[in-house]
Amino acid sequence: MTNKHLEYFKSLLLRRKEELLNNSNSVFKEITDNNNKPSDEGDYAAEEIRQYLNCTINSRDRKCLLEIERAFARIEQGEFGHCENCGEEIPVERLKVQPFSSLCIDCMEDMELEQRRPA
Ligand SMILES: [Zn+2]
Repeated sequence: MTNKHLEYFKSLLLRRKEELLNNSNSVFKEITDNNNKPSDEGDYAAEEIRQYLNCTINSRDRKCLLEIERAFARIEQGEFGHCENCGEEIPVERLKVQPFSSLCIDCMEDMELEQRRPA
């Protein structure tokens, strides 16, 4: 993983994050447009909207946002691009498809098998 790759993935992750946030922003706008509360209640309204958003951002997007945040943290810590489980480098080609993947393919498959196994 070169610095150039890191920069590339950083901007990729940022773009994904913005896309996700824009999706929720359109919901946000819808609510604020319909919101005729006086401005001195602004803070209260904002809080209300935030709670509403928490319920409306679908859980898949929320999970995605969390994973993006974790990927940023791993970039900061210099761990980005390494498998969280075995420490092996994750191939750049894989990261291009799934920039926030934190497991190599082997570990990912192991985990999926684990999850499919009947309890
Ligand atoms: Zn691994």
